[in-house]
Amino acid sequence: MKDPIHREQLIQLGNKYGTPLYIYDSEIIEKQYIKMKKAFSSVKNLKIFYACKANTNLNVLKFLQKLGSGLDTVSIQEVEIGLKAGFTSKNIIFTPNCVSIKEIKKAVHFGVRINIDNLSILEQFGGEYPDYPVGIRINPHIMAGGNYKISVGHIDSKFGISYYQIPHMKRILKNTGLQIEGFHMHTGSDISNIEYFLQGSKILYKIAMDFPNLDYIDFGSGFKVSYKKNDIQTDLTFLSNYMIEKFQYFCKNYGKIVTLILEPGKFLVSESGYFLVNVNVIKQTTSTVFAGVDSGFNHFIRPMFYEAYHGIENISNPNGRFRFYTVVGYICESDTFGLNRKISEIREGDILCIKNAGAYCYSMSSNYNSRYRPSEVMIFNGKDFLIRRRENMKDILRNIIEIQI
Ligand SMILES: *Cc1c(COP(=O)(O)O)cnc(C)c1O
Repeated sequence: MKDPIHREQLIQLGNKYGTPLYIYDSEIIEKQYIKMKKAFSSVKNLKIFYACKANTNLNVLKFLQKLGSGLDTVSIQEVEIGLKAGFTSKNIIFTPNCVSIKEIKKAVHFGVRINIDNLSILEQFGGEYPDYPVGIRINPHIMAGGNYKISVGHIDSKFGISYYQIPHMKRILKNTGLQIEGFHMHTGSDISNIEYFLQGSKILYKIAMDFPNLDYIDFGSGFKVSYKKNDIQTDLTFLSNYMIEKFQYFCKNYGKIVTLILEPGKFLVSESGYFLVNVNVIKQTTSTVFAGVDSGFNHFIRPMFYEAYHGIENISNPNGRFRFYTVVGYICESDTFGLNRKISEIREGDILCIKNAGAYCYSMSSNYNSRYRPSEVMIFNGKDFLIRRRENMKDILRNIIEIQI
């Protein structure tokens, strides 16, 4: 089911499992994983850690674990899912932001790698666990990423320890005896200009030279995928050529070959996902033609939250006459999937396919409007498997405690 998508297969799955429905093609995840591995194949110690907040279905995690990936996590719950999926603790990095020392203690209990991103926690951690080496997330003060909401390495960002605070950090390390095992940065998502990666890495290398016992340097992620025809995406080969050269130069100066870590989320899973919705209503208004579907931003928030563009195709009528539609959801609030899109003629009952639905879609879904979250299907070894059932009223009411009123 590679691009262009096999419409018949998608329609079949839509009919078999019902809509709304998420479908993930494991072949595409594998293809992306191998593409990244290949681009950096001349780096002996490369390690890819899948950033699982993009898609935390246990089966997606298991699949990536089998491929040889590690796991990047941002909450203790993701750590636990990762362990359940079969990742060893040393193959899990915990990179939280603004969590309590209590949550970080749990990560120590699980034995995973920990990235600390503020001096207060570093001081508390060093006081308690001087023998548990950690990584440090650096804020390199770079404005990178597709838009402000997904830019996380600039001076106003809450993430990371500023590189201007290195003297204070060193003092904490000296006072507590804590060792640093790696440096980390992650400056944003959808980074199209590779210059930002290079700028950031330069800063990490400079800092790293003062720390002789490092195991790894972690460049985070932000690799952009394409969302529409002729869209720019991170040119991996171009980027890796530059990065590898600088990395090897660093290792030579440093006197040791450290591990180079990357933490792709979107890059690995975005394009593997298709979201199928059914058209409930065609509504002609004075300004446009709306196609109203059986889903909304409760299931798929990226267009409303980030103004993200996702391709939409009418897989029920691919050869129809192309017309302009605004595709909207059924949530009682402005709820747009795509504005003024050229789509082959849509009829009530048609199934639309929304693309790039593998990353930050299901994992950001909610029960808003008391709607059930959709089911998820994975294509694996050429067969389709239900990997999460659709919710029902029991799920909606599960945690409610009824009192006498
Ligand atoms: C979200 C996140 C990533 C993945 O970002 P993508 O843009 O999805 O590749 C990597 N590292 C950290 C620490 C993250 O929080």
